[in-house]
Amino acid sequence: MGYSKKFKYRKPTKSISGVIPLAVVIKPMKCPHGTCLYCPTLDVPQSYTPKSPAIMRAAQLNYDAFKQTKARLKAFQIMKHSTDKIELIIMGGTFLAYPKQYQYEFIKACYDALNDKKSRDLKEAKKFNEKAKHRVVALCIETRPDYCSDRDIRRMLEFGCTRVELGVQAVDNRIYRKVCRGHGVKEVVDATKRLKNAGFKIGYHIMPGLPGSNLKKDVKLFKKLFSDENFKPDQLKIYPTQVIKGSELEKLYWNGKYKPYDKEQLIRLLIEFKKIVPRYCRIMRVMREIPPDFLVAGTIRIDLRREIQKRFSKCKCIRCREIGFALLNKKEVKKGLKLKITKYRASKGKEFFVEFVNRQDIIFGLIRLRIPDKSRVMFVRELHIYGPALRLGKKLMKTAEKIARKYRCKRIIVISGVGVREYYKELGYKFKDPYMVKP
Ligand code: SF4
Repeated sequence: MGYSKKFKYRKPTKSISGVIPLAVVIKPMKCPHGTCLYCPTLDVPQSYTPKSPAIMRAAQLNYDAFKQTKARLKAFQIMKHSTDKIELIIMGGTFLAYPKQYQYEFIKACYDALNDKKSRDLKEAKKFNEKAKHRVVALCIETRPDYCSDRDIRRMLEFGCTRVELGVQAVDNRIYRKVCRGHGVKEVVDATKRLKNAGFKIGYHIMPGLPGSNLKKDVKLFKKLFSDENFKPDQLKIYPTQVIKGSELEKLYWNGKYKPYDKEQLIRLLIEFKKIVPRYCRIMRVMREIPPDFLVAGTIRIDLRREIQKRFSKCKCIRCREIGFALLNKKEVKKGLKLKITKYRASKGKEFFVEFVNRQDIIFGLIRLRIPDKSRVMFVRELHIYGPALRLGKKLMKTAEKIARKYRCKRIIVISGVGVREYYKELGYKFKDPYMVKP
């Protein structure tokens, strides 16, 4: 299926799903609510350390969005990655809390760099990108649950955003208070629902080991994420709490009032998480890479994941079942695909997670559908094909249309990266700003 060539490239995991993640960092600005207990405040974007590679690259270019995008493109080209499909990732503190003009100019500059021409405004930049060489097939913004109002959501749609990562950390009000988070569980529930009802794909960042939690409680909270219909994220980044230089937590640590989990505790905890995670969720990352100079206490092993996989290989999450990783691990992949549909309730709506899998449960493509309660529309929140088998994409869209008919939906609404609009047009969808729509 044309996969073999890809793995000769350097850093193969970067583009394993055919899309290159291009991160652009926003300028430093303090978070409006104050500072979370564990978050370092250094002379760089909030929550980052000056020696993180992405931050060093961005700081060198004075956080200029245009220059950063160009530089990353060039770096990927040197590494011989294909750069026609880009996932643009806006990194830094809470982007949506920045002055609006800054937000618009930042996003426009990223598109301009990818289009290799300046545009008059964001609208034009996005239009150019529809047919550009480097197309934005997905755009991700990180935000806090209390920076996710209807207005924020409209703006994100205007930017061409398709995926939102929410800093959720732990769904517990006592812990939120203890770590000075500045919002509660209610905000998480509301933001999740709003985002899903606007068609976004949602990732949660969670932090086991926060002050006020313990191993047992962390497992309980993790279970809650998938048993309580108010949460159920599509993706997870698990960042166990580490003590970082320049954070308030550092003081607690030195006073003997806080201790992070050790490596063995973490491995056992993450295995428990993996036993719980449902097949519709993708564990994107475990562990955050903190440069050793800034890590006061906490596990440093970034290859923890491999060790966990050695001890527990039955994880059902999307990432562990992707075809790309099976090939990378030299697994023999059986042919013969079947369609598998997982239906579940989430945030007051019906969700359908449809996948093409083989009999080893290896996943080749997926589509994520949602029908909000009391609504006659169906959202396509994600369509993802691993590798070049475009046929699968069409088949998945056909399945979506069948489900829409069965549930008497009047329209199908697709949240689509600006650079994928042409693809949907070929399938009979029309652009109704900001979505692609088919009656
Ligand atoms: S919201 Fe995020 S970036 Fe802001 S202080 Fe808290 S952890 Fe740091």
